[in-house]
Amino acid sequence: LSIYLLLLQEVSYHLAVYVPRILCLGPSGGSSREEQREEQREDLASQLLLLAPLEWLLLGEEPASGLHLLQENNQPSPLCGHVFKVGEPTYSCRECAADPTCVLCMKCFLGSIHKEHRYRMTTSGGGGFCDCGDAEAWKKGPYCQQHRHPPTDRDAEEDPVSVLPADMVARGVSIFSILLKYAVDMLTWDQEDQLPAGLEPLEDTYYCMLFNDEVHTYEQVIYTLQKAVNCSQKEAVSFATTVDRDGRKSVRYGDFQFCDQAKSVIVRNTSRQSKPLRVQVMHSSVVAHQCFALRALSWLGQIIQYSDGLRRVLCEVGLQRGPEGEYSSLVDKLMLNDSKMWKGARNIYHQLLMNSLLMDLKYKKIFAIQFAKNYRRLQTDFMEDDHERVVSVTSLSVQLFTVPTMARMLMVEENLMTTIIKTFVDHLRHRDLQGRFQFDRYTAQQAFKFGRVQSLIGDLKYILISRPSEWSDQLRLKFLEGLDAFLELLKCMQGMDPVVRQVGQHIEMEPEWEAAFTLQMKLTHIISMIQEWCSTDEHVLIEAYRKCLSALSHCHSGLPDGEQPISLSVAGHCVETFRYQVSQDKVSIHLPVCRLLAGLHVLLSRTEVASRFPEQLPLGELSPPLLIELPLRCLVLCAQVHAGMWRRNGFSLINQIYYYHNVKCRVEMFDKDMIMLQAGASMMDPNHFLMIVLSRFELFHIFSSADCRKRYRDTHKDVVQQNNTLMEEMLHLIIMVVGERYVSGVGQVESFDEVRREIIHQLSIRPMAHSELVKALPENGNKETGLERVIDSVASFKKPGVTGRGLYELRPEWNKHFNLYFHHFSRADQSKAEEAQRKLRRQNGEDTALPPPSPPLLCPLFGSLVNLLQCDVLLAVEGAVLQWAVEPSGGGWTESMLQRVLHLVGVALLEEEQQLESSSRDDDVTFNYTCKITRPGEAPSTSGSVLALLESLQNAPHLEVHKDMITWILKMVANIKTMRERTSSTLTVPVCPGQGPEETLRDKDKAERKRKAEMARLRREKIMAQMSEMQKHFINENKELFQQSLEELEASTSAAADNSPPSSESTCVAQVCVGPRRVGGAEHRQLVTCILCQEEQEVRGQGRAMVLAAFIQRSTVLSKNRRRNLPDPERHDPLFMNPDLSLGIHTASCGHIMHATCWQRYFEAVQLKEQRRQQRLRGHTSYDVENGEFLCPLCECLSNTVIPLLPHTHTPDYRYTPQVNSLFSLRVDHPSLEAWLKMTNQQITAIHSAHRKPAEPAVPDGFKVDFTPQNLFSSSVKEMITTFSMSTYKVGLKVNPNEQDQRVPVLSWSTCAYTIQSIGTHTHLGRDDCLSSLTRFSSACWTAAPPTTVQSHFIRLLAALVPDSRVENTLSILDIDMFHLLVYSVLSYSSVHSLDQSGQRVVDSAHLHILHLVTVAHLVQILLTSTTEEVCMDQDSSASEEEELTCRLYNTLRKHLGSVLPEVTSGWQLFRCVKAGCLPFLRATALFFHYLNSTAPPADLLVAGPGQWEALCSYLDLPSNLLQLHQNQHTLLEPWCCHPVVRQTLQVDGVIVRFPRESNRLIQLPEDYSILINQASSFTCPRSGGDKSRAPTLCLVCGSMLCSQSYCCQTEVDGEDVGACTAHTFTCGAGLGLFLRVRESQVLFVAGKTKGCFYPPPYLDDYGETDQGLKRGNPLHLCAERYRKIERLWRQHGIAEVIGHAQEANQTLVAIDWQHL
Ligand SMILES: [Zn+2]
Ligand SMILES: [Zn+2]
Ligand SMILES: [Zn+2]
Ligand SMILES: [Zn+2]
Ligand SMILES: [Zn+2]
Ligand SMILES: [Zn+2]
Ligand SMILES: [Zn+2]
Repeated sequence: LSIYLLLLQEVSYHLAVYVPRILCLGPSGGSSREEQREEQREDLASQLLLLAPLEWLLLGEEPASGLHLLQENNQPSPLCGHVFKVGEPTYSCRECAADPTCVLCMKCFLGSIHKEHRYRMTTSGGGGFCDCGDAEAWKKGPYCQQHRHPPTDRDAEEDPVSVLPADMVARGVSIFSILLKYAVDMLTWDQEDQLPAGLEPLEDTYYCMLFNDEVHTYEQVIYTLQKAVNCSQKEAVSFATTVDRDGRKSVRYGDFQFCDQAKSVIVRNTSRQSKPLRVQVMHSSVVAHQCFALRALSWLGQIIQYSDGLRRVLCEVGLQRGPEGEYSSLVDKLMLNDSKMWKGARNIYHQLLMNSLLMDLKYKKIFAIQFAKNYRRLQTDFMEDDHERVVSVTSLSVQLFTVPTMARMLMVEENLMTTIIKTFVDHLRHRDLQGRFQFDRYTAQQAFKFGRVQSLIGDLKYILISRPSEWSDQLRLKFLEGLDAFLELLKCMQGMDPVVRQVGQHIEMEPEWEAAFTLQMKLTHIISMIQEWCSTDEHVLIEAYRKCLSALSHCHSGLPDGEQPISLSVAGHCVETFRYQVSQDKVSIHLPVCRLLAGLHVLLSRTEVASRFPEQLPLGELSPPLLIELPLRCLVLCAQVHAGMWRRNGFSLINQIYYYHNVKCRVEMFDKDMIMLQAGASMMDPNHFLMIVLSRFELFHIFSSADCRKRYRDTHKDVVQQNNTLMEEMLHLIIMVVGERYVSGVGQVESFDEVRREIIHQLSIRPMAHSELVKALPENGNKETGLERVIDSVASFKKPGVTGRGLYELRPEWNKHFNLYFHHFSRADQSKAEEAQRKLRRQNGEDTALPPPSPPLLCPLFGSLVNLLQCDVLLAVEGAVLQWAVEPSGGGWTESMLQRVLHLVGVALLEEEQQLESSSRDDDVTFNYTCKITRPGEAPSTSGSVLALLESLQNAPHLEVHKDMITWILKMVANIKTMRERTSSTLTVPVCPGQGPEETLRDKDKAERKRKAEMARLRREKIMAQMSEMQKHFINENKELFQQSLEELEASTSAAADNSPPSSESTCVAQVCVGPRRVGGAEHRQLVTCILCQEEQEVRGQGRAMVLAAFIQRSTVLSKNRRRNLPDPERHDPLFMNPDLSLGIHTASCGHIMHATCWQRYFEAVQLKEQRRQQRLRGHTSYDVENGEFLCPLCECLSNTVIPLLPHTHTPDYRYTPQVNSLFSLRVDHPSLEAWLKMTNQQITAIHSAHRKPAEPAVPDGFKVDFTPQNLFSSSVKEMITTFSMSTYKVGLKVNPNEQDQRVPVLSWSTCAYTIQSIGTHTHLGRDDCLSSLTRFSSACWTAAPPTTVQSHFIRLLAALVPDSRVENTLSILDIDMFHLLVYSVLSYSSVHSLDQSGQRVVDSAHLHILHLVTVAHLVQILLTSTTEEVCMDQDSSASEEEELTCRLYNTLRKHLGSVLPEVTSGWQLFRCVKAGCLPFLRATALFFHYLNSTAPPADLLVAGPGQWEALCSYLDLPSNLLQLHQNQHTLLEPWCCHPVVRQTLQVDGVIVRFPRESNRLIQLPEDYSILINQASSFTCPRSGGDKSRAPTLCLVCGSMLCSQSYCCQTEVDGEDVGACTAHTFTCGAGLGLFLRVRESQVLFVAGKTKGCFYPPPYLDDYGETDQGLKRGNPLHLCAERYRKIERLWRQHGIAEVIGHAQEANQTLVAIDWQHL
């Protein structure tokens, strides 16, 4: 002991000296970099100076080797014990887990047998650990591969401490107790500027410490901090984030006054609305010691990982009772101070508890007992605390209580069940005068407490979740004691929230109802579980039944008081009951005591306890009328609400009724009320039962009065209607009471049958998805519905397509089990199901009667229920309704009543038939309904028997709908008659029931005719349906057309091409689209119709302008370099597109044409409407009018500009005549390249000099520098050209419109080139209005710009190809996208050519020359960038001409560049490179000239295949051996290669774009969704040092993981704070983004800052459904088709459009703050 004290002294001294010197020195905050460095320093220092000495001491040697030695003797715990991070995936096996809280970590799961089972996957909310290795948690396969083999060299029972050397154990005990005590003392220390004795402080510096709470928002804290400690917004955010994560953070450091000042500012600023933020001024030494205490705990946690012996030593130390008595161990102290500690401290010690006590099987039990002893205290502390439950020590209950043996042990030894229930009841203090809960006028504070108190129900559920297989006397005793407590709780609920019918005035305030229902809902599983426990032991069941009954009689004590009983009589029967009317007196929906009794009653029947021990049961004490009284009132209340009698009681009541029937509550509400009525009815005279029912429905007078037809004569119409509804409801109730037998114990069925019946009825409504079915079925405590066991036997599964979900369809053979009055149908369900079933029967050519299905047999205890069907009162009711049906007049009767009566008659007949079938002799059958209905009725005024009435109704014209049913009934009656005769007589009777042969024949004939007519009608119906379906889909299909894959499109066009060749000429002549030999464009007039005014109009340059709605957006879809920064809009020179295509401008159009004037008028109207709307609502819309956005008036496609339609280009200069084809002669001068270059050069010189000195050099003939070309366009067309130019300029550069800017025409050309390029790999030549008008517009847009501007562009463009000394800073050919260069040059050439008045028209020649130049440049580009690893396979010794030429060209390039280019000998390989690299360029070029010159493409162009290369070359008038081209232009190679940038780029190995550029794809996603979840769970926020991100979000374009929807990662973009996703879109997608929100399993599309929508993820479960929000937890797998669809949307620039449509369809999407995601 003295050694211990000595050691204690030494350690304390050491800590007192060093801790304040090492930890918490100086201010925190500043940059996160500094803070990190400081933290590393502290880590190092505390390891070296504080912890290492302890390690030496403990191990007695050098720590590293000592620990290694320890580990060798360690027996790892068989438990995995992996503690879950927030968001980490957890797996639970639905077949083997003891309960749903048993989970595996991903690693264990993948190594377990359960991955082949049905499992559920969820994401952890943090805390909790992996149950792998816990034999009690799994019915099968408790070990994964890794934890499978517990080392066998040591006995599991052996004390691990005994393996350790004794002296080490002694040292361990001392060190652990000193350190643990130190840590506990420091963490529970509540003085701000004093320290425990022995740890006196050194100098006086202080911290201002801010603590978190759940009351204040981030914004409040940030704002306050900025004011209080004068920090930047960024620092404040960082402080706030840390406070939220760790629970506290020092925000200021200095002397006391300095800190105190900050404290008072914070308190003052936050105390206005609520309680102020918690702030303390703490001595820096206190803070330092607390910090070290946490490090010490972590250290302990690490050390015990090395040795199970040391782990047990620590457990022993922790749980050792202190000097103060029972609750004084160090662990007790921690637990009891839990709610006073800050979040970070709690997390660390919880973690230590999990690593130590919960991993040691012996101490886990001891700890559990201690936990149970403290239970009430801990829960009370938790109620006062405002932290979430995950950071409370009470959340450990799930680790302890769910272990079944542990739960039983705690129940028996610590009476845990009773403790939990009593603690719960104590915390719900608000009661009314009768002691019932009262949730009226609940304050927010109370509601918050109520929320917390519910976690106790969770604990109760844990200990009850597994039923005991064996009972000890002790367990019986304690369980029944717990049941007593539970009944006390239920008594407080019985009759709570009573309602009284409001007459006259509507209620003023909706009463509170949700709290009571929340309670009911939470308790539902508990109630069911208690019943399950009872069902496993006869003694317990009998005792429970007694207790419940006495509780109920206690509740009933006030019931029949006061009033005199009244006596009722009808149909010769008489009963006494008390005066009570639901419509006037108090009534409550909450009757848990009754319902528990009903549940137990069924168990008595099911377990046959009732028949085996009748003497032990207090059945004699039961008063059936009392039993049924309260449930009946509740059901009558529902009926009256349906009848509209409670309209003035508001929505609160409607909601209650809704939940009463809802699947979440009905098992322990509605269902049990039905059972109670059945129980009561089976114990009573059926006539008495019905009379009481009639009386409670307030319908008794109708049947008791002498002439019931009089009843509506002088009553108000409303009352008649009410009574009608009540009659219907009452009949329905009777149907349910006698007919609902699918509860094991009521009828002779298994739970399997019960579930199957539910499913059959759900699927009778319509085919349903798996999740819909799950939602419609009640879950048990294990979250199972039993659906999977049943579903395949009754339904067939239909897989989903690319949209929609998989559906289950009822197999036809189950249709006969359909019951129209199925008790769980809502009224809407019922009518839908009825309609569906009748339709089905008609389709099958059957009659439309929907008779009841034959019911299962009743259990003996409920056997006498059937007598209801044949009792006098019911017969009287039936007779009356039929009588009214025979002579309907006035409003006192409805068809629904008749339908229900017919159903009841049917049920009775089925019952009789069944009994007859199962009996051998006639006199066995006591049920004799047929006999009774043939007797004349006894009810007043009934003229005939029920049967007679039915017969007369059979032909009533007004009852056509019910005819089939009546026929069915009469057949049944006849059948039964025959059966009776057959059993009574020995003669055999013909099987055909009582019909003569003649009659049958006539019937047959009639039936046949009917069937034919029916068939014809069905056919007609089908055709009509098909037509309307087609119409409906037409619009949608057209809308989706552009979204369809191009592959599909191409398939269809090529198919079309087979039928009608694109042009008749193409059949005989090679089509050429460029150059002097090009074939003339279509000269036909172009007539279009305006969608707004429907007027037809010809497209003419001089006519009224026609426009096409269009949408321009910036695009990075083709980008090969996502790291390139966006250009500065003011400085950016767009004349040369970089080959990485990092940012382009895309134009799309829905193809709808309008007059420019019509469109302008439309747009103005939209603007006006929007202005007015914004004044009213100030909301966004799906389109942004201020940015020129509107929706196409026809298809609502998002648009932001219009493209003017222009006429086709002029015909070729000289007509090329096919006749001279063979001679290959042209009747036109086609100047050679040299000649053309020379001339162009002269023209350029002229232009240059014109702008400097007056004409000095030789000007080519006819070239007039100052010539103004004649105006080609009318003013309206011109205006539209400007409009579209400005839009591309504005969107493309993100600048304000400026018509003077030189860049305007460039951007117009740019969108033309980019859009054509984005069409992708498939050359789709055909009618594309958008591309065609875009190209024609681009060729004309130069007319809207000053000619000199365009000319100077041309000069610069040409200089990039043909060196020109007058142009400075030309780019190297590696920095230019050649297709863009081609388009720009061709389009800008017109401005130069327009000055040429010589009459020589060389435009086409010029185009061809430009094309040749650019093509050669591209070839060089490809060769320079080709990655030709030498592959030694000289295919052919004799190389082809192409290959030789390629080699030669390459070698020339090498001559210029030398070793920068690798040596390549294989011409074959080079040529292959060239060909593949060049193809996309040729395709795009063909498209461009096709649209520019309106040349119809030859047929072979449309077919992708081996001939395509040749077809393209010929269409472009290029030699099919492209390499020949370069021979004319070899002089250019040198300047191209010698551009300094070329060498540099190739050498430095920068970003080299290679050809062909592969088209971009979205990132690869894993097949199994949990892999993504796992990735996301280990993703930490990049800004807040190691913190887990709450909403990790994956960019589908580039694969970056982002920390979305969080303060920490907000960035400023254009002066506004935006979330990580939005910020990312600006760098990655030019404002447009596609993301996968991993935790939500949801795809997110965002465009700009205000627009976005969610999109179904490409992950489906086995039932073909997505799981957005990851609520259901079925395993999810990638659906490649759906992912491809998303990819296609992106590649075709359809995302913005999808967002637009989604927002248009769902206005709530508009209100979401997308920019914060
Ligand atoms: Zn694990
Ligand atoms: Zn494992
Ligand atoms: Zn399993
Ligand atoms: Zn018009
Ligand atoms: Zn449209
Ligand atoms: Zn990205
Ligand atoms: Zn973050």
